[in-house]
Amino acid sequence: MRVVRKSLMQTPQNVRVLKDDRILELVWSEDETSRLPFCEIRRSCRCAACVDEFTGRQILDPESVDETIAAVDVSLTGNYAMKFRWSDTHDSGLFTWDHLRSIAKRIQEEK
Ligand SMILES: [Zn+2]
Repeated sequence: MRVVRKSLMQTPQNVRVLKDDRILELVWSEDETSRLPFCEIRRSCRCAACVDEFTGRQILDPESVDETIAAVDVSLTGNYAMKFRWSDTHDSGLFTWDHLRSIAKRIQEEK
């Protein structure tokens, strides 16, 4: 028997990588667009090298990520997440739409 799981995750309608501006633009709907600076995405990486799997403590020092960090390569994983290869050679992070959206929300709240 096949179990069909319905995802409640919102998928962006459009994704643009603005390499010159170091921004990832996600269009969620007609009136909601997120613009995420690359450095904020890189600082929010939750891979095993950046966050302790057991304690959830962040191993990565956000200060160590330079604001000029570039995305060397950006790709989609299935239709639920994005992968980045950063100019600091880090590439093990997987960013789901939900995660990217939560980063966008956090940035907005900090403003
Ligand atoms: Zn990482």
